[in-house]
Amino acid sequence: MNFALTKEQQMIKEMVRDFAEKEIAPYAAKWDEEAHFPVEVFKKMGELGLLGIPFPEKYGGAGGDTISYAIAVEEIGRACGGTGLSYAAAVSLGASPIYYFGTEEQKQKWLVPMAKGETLGAFGLTEPNAGSDAGGTQTTAVLDGDEYVINGEKCWITNAQYSRQVIVTAVTGKDERGKNIISAIIVPTDTPGFTIRSNYDKMGVRASNTCELIFENVRVPKENVLGDAKKGFQQFLYTLDGGRISIAALAVGIAQAAFEKALQYAKERVQFGQTISKFQAIQFKLADMAMEIELARNMVYKAAWLKDQGKSFTKEASFAKLFASEMGFRVCNQAIQIHGGYGYMKEYGVERHLRDIKLMEIGEGTSEIQRLVIARQLGC
Ligand SMILES: Cc1cc2nc3c(=O)[nH]c(=O)nc-3n(C[C@H](O)[C@H](O)[C@H](O)COP(=O)(O)OP(=O)(O)OC[C@H]3O[C@@H](n4cnc5c(N)ncnc54)[C@H](O)[C@@H]3O)c2cc1C
Repeated sequence: MNFALTKEQQMIKEMVRDFAEKEIAPYAAKWDEEAHFPVEVFKKMGELGLLGIPFPEKYGGAGGDTISYAIAVEEIGRACGGTGLSYAAAVSLGASPIYYFGTEEQKQKWLVPMAKGETLGAFGLTEPNAGSDAGGTQTTAVLDGDEYVINGEKCWITNAQYSRQVIVTAVTGKDERGKNIISAIIVPTDTPGFTIRSNYDKMGVRASNTCELIFENVRVPKENVLGDAKKGFQQFLYTLDGGRISIAALAVGIAQAAFEKALQYAKERVQFGQTISKFQAIQFKLADMAMEIELARNMVYKAAWLKDQGKSFTKEASFAKLFASEMGFRVCNQAIQIHGGYGYMKEYGVERHLRDIKLMEIGEGTSEIQRLVIARQLGC
């Protein structure tokens, strides 16, 4: 693997950083305070092609690779964790499953508008009683003639309120061994009986839209089932593998922002007659932070590269997600420590990074679940 970015990847990095510094970073604190979802920024990201980076041009995308997409997530996350989460969810969870598993017709109908940034998409897996144990899905979809009738509830679904459709997992029957068959079904958000609420008061990633979904006899045509109706479980496992690369990239971006603030502050703050950056205790913190961020970034690139090569990347995506999220928490915590009491105040903006990064240890599989995935990959 060549660790130098290609010309295209470097160009994406510069373009997204420039965009994020102008259009996102100056407003991130306000959006966090007001829990505002910046729909207007997503329109601009769509015009720049950012929502279609990893999809081929024939589906409205930019034909880029997973590394380029991960770079974009990092740069948006560096500016605002909540916007970064919604961006990552739109591409990895809303659009990618249709690209991976959809029929040609489904791709034309649902993927193309998302890749062009005309609408967002969402992925509804988690339920009040089925989180880490997503196979315990209780939502049902019963075939009635040419339609599925969906009943159930989903919680904490990113972007649903701003999406044209949500991919919903539901139990559609039993297999030969009597185990539930889970299918993924594309449900247009304007279908009668489908209610979407966004009443959560979150600790962090507050600029991201997080929703409760309620299905009461929601009817969708049976051709809305995503790919093979019997493969819903395998589909979401693969989708989450890809999503984990983006959550790891987001953790790197948030950690990078906290680190940059800490470094700058350490060079300015004077105590005992010198800047605190001259104290070895502070230097060692900064050295560890810089090293760990770089290591996590390389782990993101490696997992993304494996995915692009069509090789197995399950273990490496979990490595990256687990290490980057836990590393990011340490870095954001130390960034506050370096700021002392000022770090504890909202004005300096570092406490937001700590609140935002905590989600990375929970979403798309908790740290405990990542360790389980890795152990399974090791053959345990
Ligand atoms: C802001 C936000 C956005 C989200 N966006 C989405 C989305 O877009 N789509 C979606 O489907 N979901 C989404 N989620 C849900 C998220 O993926 C789940 O919260 C996560 O998978 C964990 O599930 P849970 O919260 O039910 O925790 P639980 O599964 O109840 O876990 C509770 C604790 O028990 C531990 N635990 C559980 N099982 C085991 C085990 N076998 N071994 C060891 N420890 C275990 C967990 O690690 C955790 O520490 C979002 C969540 C949040 C907070």
